[in-house]
Amino acid sequence: MTPVDLPGSNIPEGLQFLLSARTGHYRMESGHHSQVWMEFNTLFMNPSHLRPFITRLAGLLAPLQPDALCGPYIGGMLLASMTAMEMGIEFFHTLRQADPGEGMYPVQYHLPADLHTHVSGKRVIVVDDVINAGSAVLATCDELAAHGAEVIAVGALVTLGDTGVEAVAARGLPLLSISSHPNRLYLPDECPLCQQGVELTEVK
Ligand SMILES: [Zn+2]
Repeated sequence: MTPVDLPGSNIPEGLQFLLSARTGHYRMESGHHSQVWMEFNTLFMNPSHLRPFITRLAGLLAPLQPDALCGPYIGGMLLASMTAMEMGIEFFHTLRQADPGEGMYPVQYHLPADLHTHVSGKRVIVVDDVINAGSAVLATCDELAAHGAEVIAVGALVTLGDTGVEAVAARGLPLLSISSHPNRLYLPDECPLCQQGVELTEVK
């Protein structure tokens, strides 16, 4: 795994530094294979360094007048909490189910039971730090809808490539992100890195 900078990206320099982007051969939570992976642990290591980007995201989301933000554990949850504080609104989170199924987009995210009644009827924006295939945000949208929330948009600090962007658009939801970077995701059967025999790293 090699840390890289991201030439040609519109990710702000300070945010690139916090994200620790890496290139290699990664199996995403969605089941896709990717050449780019971004760590989230360093992103939240120093919250004051992240704050300018939280403020920018809050500025993008505020005109939609959400009642709450919801983020999938763990990066999305941390981002949702910080951004909701900035916006003065409620914050929810979802937890990844312990045992995902097989195939593409196998993962489900669940609201903790004591939040079920609190999300009902709320206008919620689902946020995640980095959206690649969109697995965690889409599963979170489904879970919120199942408990009576109205999901009105998806927000992110970074979108990687088009796969997740298109998947969110297919739900009829706007996706508001402060930056983006090109990336190509592959179905396992079509992955050129697999065909070259490059070792695969799980990043679930
Ligand atoms: Zn592959």
